[in-house]
Amino acid sequence: MVIIFKAGTTSQIVAEILETLTSHNLSAFLIHDKTNMIIGVQGDHKIISQLLNDHPAIEKIKSISTSYQLVSRDAIPENTKVSVGKVVVGDKKVIVIGGPCAIESREQLFETATAVKEAGAHGLRGGAFKSRTSPYYFQGLGVAGLKLLHEVSQALDMPFVSEVIEADDVAVMARFATALQVGTRNMQNYRLLKELGRVKKPVLLKRGMSATIEEFLLAAEYIISEGNPNVILCERGIRTFEPTTRNTLDLAAVPYLKMHSHLPVIVDPSHGTGMSELVIPMSKAAIACGADGLLIEVHHHPKEALSDGRQSLNPQQFARLMNEIEPFVAAAGREL
Ligand code: PEP
Ligand code: MN
Repeated sequence: MVIIFKAGTTSQIVAEILETLTSHNLSAFLIHDKTNMIIGVQGDHKIISQLLNDHPAIEKIKSISTSYQLVSRDAIPENTKVSVGKVVVGDKKVIVIGGPCAIESREQLFETATAVKEAGAHGLRGGAFKSRTSPYYFQGLGVAGLKLLHEVSQALDMPFVSEVIEADDVAVMARFATALQVGTRNMQNYRLLKELGRVKKPVLLKRGMSATIEEFLLAAEYIISEGNPNVILCERGIRTFEPTTRNTLDLAAVPYLKMHSHLPVIVDPSHGTGMSELVIPMSKAAIACGADGLLIEVHHHPKEALSDGRQSLNPQQFARLMNEIEPFVAAAGREL
């Protein structure tokens, strides 16, 4: 259930109402502090209405019929826009974030980042802490990689997103990264999600490879219910019976999520397909079905990449992607 306040309600009044609810052992959270302040609360509609007794600051008290509440479009009808540095995700502009799967060296990162910037990317991606399927695979450069990302992002004036794999790393990641990514293997790591809810940094939440849409939205709910409304959903493919592609990119999830949630949705066709030759066509399809952005793996020499080279575009292919998506962006009524 959500309690929506009238425009102009002071935070003092909202704090008093939060206090009333929590002092009656109801679990309540402030979730929206921009145009309308909203409290999410769990409990019986009748009891809550009686408790708040037609308070003049309250616009309405609304029951939400889904298991997820605060991420629901029923709770907040307008699109949430998430600022990642100076880039806004979920507004008119389709945002493209490009960069290597993993940071391997200063030279690799700098060359790739310069190329994606020149091609028109809005943000940079790169893994410093890698969550790999085998313990024998490259595990990332850790904090050293994070510092390299920070340095390159400052030099090129580009915000960057990087994956956080442990709750204990959230503080150091939040110090350096513009946005924190939760990988597919961690979508249901609830301790990590709660920790991310306590920082105000934007979170790019990837769909678990075996997660339903409802589980995906509930993972976002974990972050928001702890007080961080800055969540971007990322469809990155799910595991099906089809072994030809690495994952099955569930593009139907994109319009579904946009209809049922107010959060921005981006698509990762690199992990979604596992094949570089499928990245451009699926990027076009993602934009056509309403994605707010793309997350693309790029490597200056994909054949030599220490991770995910098979699905990485080289700089020329990335530049082609940026050109070829333009008509799809325009047809979707968006801008690049
Ligand atoms: C990545 O973005 O490099 C990554 C590991 O993604 P995922 O968690 O979707 O596999
Ligand atoms: Mn990868």
